[in-house]
Amino acid sequence: MNRRNFIKSTAFGTAALAGSSLLNAALLKKPHVGIQIYGYNILDEGIETCLDGLQERGAIDTLYLTTHTYYCAVNRPPQVLADHGIPIQDERKRRFPKIWVRTDERFYKETILRHQAKPQDFEYGDRDLFNEIQKPLRARGMNVFARWYEPTDINRVLVDGTPSIANWEKVLVVDMNGKRGTSPCWNNPDYREWLRASVLDMFSNYELDGIQFGAERVGPLSEQLFRHGFTPTCFCEHCISKNKEKGLDAEDARTGYRDLYNLMESLRQGQRPVDGVVTTVLRLFQKYPEILGWNYQWIQADNEIQKMIYQAVKSIKPTAQVARHIDHQRSSWDIFYRAAAPYSDMIGTCDWIKPILYHEIFGPRLHHWKLAEEHKTFASELTLEQSMELFYALFHYDKNVFPTLDKLDDGIPPKYVYIETKRAVDATSGTLPVASGIGIDIPWNGQPYPSKPESIYKATLLAFQAGAKGVVASREYDEMQFVNLKAFGDAVRENYKG
Ligand SMILES: [Zn+2]
Repeated sequence: MNRRNFIKSTAFGTAALAGSSLLNAALLKKPHVGIQIYGYNILDEGIETCLDGLQERGAIDTLYLTTHTYYCAVNRPPQVLADHGIPIQDERKRRFPKIWVRTDERFYKETILRHQAKPQDFEYGDRDLFNEIQKPLRARGMNVFARWYEPTDINRVLVDGTPSIANWEKVLVVDMNGKRGTSPCWNNPDYREWLRASVLDMFSNYELDGIQFGAERVGPLSEQLFRHGFTPTCFCEHCISKNKEKGLDAEDARTGYRDLYNLMESLRQGQRPVDGVVTTVLRLFQKYPEILGWNYQWIQADNEIQKMIYQAVKSIKPTAQVARHIDHQRSSWDIFYRAAAPYSDMIGTCDWIKPILYHEIFGPRLHHWKLAEEHKTFASELTLEQSMELFYALFHYDKNVFPTLDKLDDGIPPKYVYIETKRAVDATSGTLPVASGIGIDIPWNGQPYPSKPESIYKATLLAFQAGAKGVVASREYDEMQFVNLKAFGDAVRENYKG
């Protein structure tokens, strides 16, 4: 019996079957190997067939199984879905529930929000997958984490033009002009309580080994400097009063953000301030320190929510693991987030850091989502090459290893996974285990962007070499070609052997 099978059949296997406190210790000894997957993927392929394939190809031991699809990859064209030996269906024509777990009304007494009312009216809505999967999952010594990204984008919350979450419009952010925005406010008490209640509900009613929770949005400062189309938020009554307690004046924040917003608009129209962009922005930061303070407090509110989720999970099931999802912009290019929420501040908010480290797709994302966007305003005085070189220097990426601008769309080398995994490990002196998110076959602009097996293999090995205690095959199982999932699994097996 090799080492892998030995451990699987003893400590880890026993813990998984018994759901005992051994699970925690076992997870830390054995590499944690997750995969992000939708319920309908499993039901389309058949539970037994799908689980066997995940184990055999990807060495997967934990499903990161999506519980709520208020925010997820949606409306993908069939060409980006992988051939898994069954007919590929056009998901744009399918209607799935927004919630894949049953809810218990007793948990939601302190919030005005309610989950989708009739998920059973949608495809697979009559199935209770999180219960159905327990037996086949445990028979294979596998675990299941709830995977939930908070609902960030109103368009994905809508079903037939109406929010699928009751009273959703009442918890949305308020912009600097007093208008409702499109995402929920992290300081809204009803929103927070709904998140908390949902976690209590799930962990009380289902046998879950953990949760992956996280947000995929930036602060108001990043929205102005490298993303566009956002009016600064949040100026709701809850944010104003909370920030007042921190000594931040709402009127100065509004004025500062208005000036910053107007500056970005003028830059977009081709105007150039006489003292240069950076000087003018730094002037605003000094004149209205509330710009920075408002941004900082916003990101702290997210941190508070992560901690609240952690405590809610532990209150029901202390052995359950909480993996904190760090989305790609946060892990890799949002310097304001990185400055305001270092990994060391995440101690006490989770058991695992799970940063997105999708090396191949990072190339076009860096090029078009970060550098090209910033070039329209904040970095308009730099060429894209200069901007890229500055980015490489500031983020400690060797420009002799990382691609030149004309090669950026071909992807970033696996070395990036090593650098960013090591940064996360070092930031907490190894006290918070890291599960690196390895990107496999992630589409670009609605078209396939195929991974290379040797690149996936190397990236996965490098994550372990950098100190990762686990890896998570990402972004979505249904996009992964089997040859690439196998390359991921081969690296896990190779690492585990050694
Ligand atoms: Zn607010």
